[in-house]
Amino acid sequence: MKPKSKKILRVLFILIVFLGLNVEGFISQSNYEFSGNESWFGTSAARTLFFNETTAYNFIETQLSFGPRVPGTLSHIECADWIREELVDITDNIMTHNFTIQKYSEPSYHCQNILGKINPAKENIVIFGAHWDSRNVAEKDTENQSSPIPGANDGGSGVAVLLELARVLYAYKDELDCQVWFLFIDAEDQGYSRGMYGLEGWYWAEGSLAFVNEIDNYYNSSVEIFECFILLDMVGGSNLQFIKESRSDEALHDSIFDEGVKLGYYEAFPSRPKVMAITDDHVAFDAFGISVIDLIIDFVEGDWTYHHTHSDDLSNIDIESLLITGLTMESFMKTYYTLNQNKDWRNTDLPTSVYLSIAVSSLFLVGLLVYLILKKKLKPKSTS
Ligand SMILES: [Zn+2]
Repeated sequence: MKPKSKKILRVLFILIVFLGLNVEGFISQSNYEFSGNESWFGTSAARTLFFNETTAYNFIETQLSFGPRVPGTLSHIECADWIREELVDITDNIMTHNFTIQKYSEPSYHCQNILGKINPAKENIVIFGAHWDSRNVAEKDTENQSSPIPGANDGGSGVAVLLELARVLYAYKDELDCQVWFLFIDAEDQGYSRGMYGLEGWYWAEGSLAFVNEIDNYYNSSVEIFECFILLDMVGGSNLQFIKESRSDEALHDSIFDEGVKLGYYEAFPSRPKVMAITDDHVAFDAFGISVIDLIIDFVEGDWTYHHTHSDDLSNIDIESLLITGLTMESFMKTYYTLNQNKDWRNTDLPTSVYLSIAVSSLFLVGLLVYLILKKKLKPKSTS
């Protein structure tokens, strides 16, 4: 073969490999367009999503402005009132589940779970949950361990994404074929860790258990059915990477991770996530028989190292992580819970990542074949 032909072939081969490697990102990004069209589905074939990360970020800022949201404090009451005020224009009705927690000879604490509902007349219910209290101690810090943490990510981020998601879904509620609950859960983060209680004698996730114990007061069990419970906890930190929480429903987990991958968020929704069992607000809903997912990071050994320290503040929030979480949730609702679609996350096909891998491998093989054929064709004929 002439050196020139060889060179052309080599360039062609590199180009094919390069294209193959990049097709994954290309496919995922070209499907989405973020604009302000009137309809949720837009006027063109391009899909549109509307979750706004700046609004979500501002919601964290507001929560922190109240101070630590620890039961028994004024900041706690102020934050609850603010959540209810925010929900007025973005949900159809608002309910408060008041309860008290009292341990041993400790004082009694007034707590409140706040529920905002969209489309309450629909039969099927999707619940989004997040805890809104913040931890009273900083047991993982090296200083001031007995004073409360800001809780920007641990508490603040879940509430922020829920509120912004409620705004988006409320705007398109006529296109949804389900009821959506936004549940702001109190008394999650005061349990025992490293020799310290948040509040003396408290367990983790007391608020969700109290709510589930009285859930019959909030829906009509002879007509309404729960679809799933999606818990968002610590979704706004830098280096966002979700784990596979072991109590979470397998199909629900796969479907949500798949939505993230479709949007191009490969790092946040890895194909082989860490598997961990977490005690969190989803446990009570799981025990009640609802399919659950705890969308959470590895706060023990992961890259976000500010869990239960005073550094869980705004400086360690990444606005992009709020966007990733919010868009993925919005996309999930659009895929599975809009009118005139019959997709069910319980029996989805193979995850998109598998299809993409097949596409990439096929392209690579075709490229290799073309290369081999051309190489043979361009080979100089031997003279005798
Ligand atoms: Zn916590």
